[in-house]
Amino acid sequence: MSAPAERARSSRPRVPDRCVVPGCEEEVARHLALAEAKRAFSNLPDSGRRAPLCRTHYKEWKKATRGERTLDRLAW
Ligand SMILES: [Zn+2]
Repeated sequence: MSAPAERARSSRPRVPDRCVVPGCEEEVARHLALAEAKRAFSNLPDSGRRAPLCRTHYKEWKKATRGERTLDRLAW
């Protein structure tokens, strides 16, 4: 697994500033790579490489990925 490149700043983001989770219309608090976001939300639309998330969903994402990380650590 390699980290996604974070330097594509010159191109305009196609995603509007709305949470990417279907049905959610809250303001965006954080931008994640779509692949990262999909770890927690598998039903995201493939509308680009970026996944803007609102605060609520960012928290959910954090929880979900933190759980994964804990499992990784236990495997050590
Ligand atoms: Zn949301």
